[in-house]
Amino acid sequence: MIGDIKKDDQQQILDTLKKYWGYTSFRPFQVEAMRSVLEGRESLTIMPTGGGKSLCFQLPALLSEGMAVVISPLISLMKDQVDDLRDKGIEARCLNSGMSLSSRNEAIKGVKSGGIKLLYLAPERLQKEETVELLKSIKLSFFVVDEAHCISHWGHDFRADYRTLWRIKKVFNPAKIHAFTATATKEVQRDIIEQLRLDTPDEHIGHIDRDNLTYRIAPRTNIMTQVVNVLKKHENEPGIIYCLRRKDVDSVSEKLNKMGYKNLSYHAGLPDSVRHENQDMFAREEVDIIVATVAFGMGIDRSNIRFILHAAMPKSIEHYHQETGRAGRDGLVSFCYMLYGGMDYRTWNYFIEQSSEQEIPRDKLKSIYNFCTRPQCRHKVLVNYFGQEYDKENCGACDYCLKELDMVEDPALIGQKIVAGIDDIRRGRTYGFGGGHVANVLKGTLTDKIEHMGQQHLKSFGSMESLSLVFIRYMIEQMVGQGFLKREEEFSTLSVTDTGRLVLAGELTPILAKPLIAAKKNKIEKKRKEQREKDWEGVDEDLFQLLRKKRTELAQEERVPAYIIFGDKSLKNMAASKPVTLEDFAKMYGVGDRKLKAHAGVFMKIITDYLLQMNRG
Ligand code: ADP
Ligand code: ZN
Repeated sequence: MIGDIKKDDQQQILDTLKKYWGYTSFRPFQVEAMRSVLEGRESLTIMPTGGGKSLCFQLPALLSEGMAVVISPLISLMKDQVDDLRDKGIEARCLNSGMSLSSRNEAIKGVKSGGIKLLYLAPERLQKEETVELLKSIKLSFFVVDEAHCISHWGHDFRADYRTLWRIKKVFNPAKIHAFTATATKEVQRDIIEQLRLDTPDEHIGHIDRDNLTYRIAPRTNIMTQVVNVLKKHENEPGIIYCLRRKDVDSVSEKLNKMGYKNLSYHAGLPDSVRHENQDMFAREEVDIIVATVAFGMGIDRSNIRFILHAAMPKSIEHYHQETGRAGRDGLVSFCYMLYGGMDYRTWNYFIEQSSEQEIPRDKLKSIYNFCTRPQCRHKVLVNYFGQEYDKENCGACDYCLKELDMVEDPALIGQKIVAGIDDIRRGRTYGFGGGHVANVLKGTLTDKIEHMGQQHLKSFGSMESLSLVFIRYMIEQMVGQGFLKREEEFSTLSVTDTGRLVLAGELTPILAKPLIAAKKNKIEKKRKEQREKDWEGVDEDLFQLLRKKRTELAQEERVPAYIIFGDKSLKNMAASKPVTLEDFAKMYGVGDRKLKAHAGVFMKIITDYLLQMNRG
């Protein structure tokens, strides 16, 4: 159903889609975005990661006269993107500072000789006179600014080079520009349009929700135990474990390797060559687990990442959204886990204090801490944060909606006891106390410190006697995150905020979850298994593993990321339908003309051998 594009054009677009990409239908907003390009207007398109942005300009580039110029900051990804296009039979090149002189010259020669449909450029290239001359010497179809949020200070990944992109309009007049990004708040959207001087652009604001991702967030109690628990759930599946600091990466990675969980590490402290090698091995599927700082990811394009585990809290919701967005780009169900602690908040806060810009980062930090500590639908919070409505009652894909969190029965009372307790403890003093001490008083544990200060006589002493210390600490942490309590920066002492006073007055109620207990965990595990069975329904898993092995071999031979050969979705389709004729193979998801020619034989042989063996066996 392609809106009201002319009938012939519609057919042409669909034919092109099948012929080059092997797909038979469009994702939401793809058609609209393509129409803006093909009909010569300008546009801003926002689609979640994995939503299929590339197609929105790649396909129109193929159908347009001249060459499209794609500006992207992701230098390390460019080669993969170009390889991917060329593997589909589409002429593309890239130019960036990471290339050798000879490959740069080769690309320039290609562009000059014509016939190239897409040129990927790093932004700083456009500031070079030679690049401008090169582009002026040939016919251009349109410009694409990918990762357009990089243009804005308000975004999470500002790039100075992007600030000069307004010159496109001046230098290449008349030029049409199309901006794409996965994450942009309303402010960032406005900024993109202004900075690029877009002329009444069409705006295609897709839903930023990633409905194939399941989010789970829990306090960090024992990092290695919790990490291993996640890994056990995802045996043989690719995933990324994010840590906050380099030394955490090193220690987690080493411990996991000792325990037999094969993994590689990645952070800015490693030599370039090691980093690149580790990243390539992950992309070629030679290793399935990477332990990394957030430095890892900008250059990674593996579409079948099944889980992202944040071993610590990221510094903003934007970062969380982008980092978790790397899971499940192939559209298959994938999982995001986050372990957080008050320590993470303090670490980020410390970094913010060292920097010149403080207000925006601090607000962002508060938002993510609130997100962690306030139990509610995770999808809804994320979507609302980016200024969109979320209308599902129950997402069915987060710890809250899956009812994995046991909610406290009487949060108002608990909230009041904690607020009253902190007031009690502080009364008449100029200084406060940390969470541990407050919990001891509420629990009624007579420590030396309490005795020494005579706090066993306070009204609040033992007011939460029947609850465990762990429980009380967890309640306090959630109240801090939700803004009812404040942790003073220097000694982490607690005090009550103005909103906290409203809890005491009975006007506001915190939302409090209980710590997870073992029985509940088992129930969750059972549900998860059932879900997995559903995902694999009809798929022959043994055959899938054989096909996957072949894909790894091919990727190694051709030195390309594995997804360029076939995505998991294609392999699952093959492992379910078991095609043994070219005609049937051509019907598989992601099989276009070129892939049919290049890979059908090899993969059909595996299927045939497998079927023969089954019949014999
Ligand atoms: P984004 O850049 O938005 O993160 P990509 O352009 O990398 O996403 O697309 C994600 C995956 O979805 C790719 O493997 C792509 O080939 C696939 N894809 C895109 N459009 C379609 C479609 N219409 N049908 C099926 N798969 C698609
Ligand atoms: Zn939910």
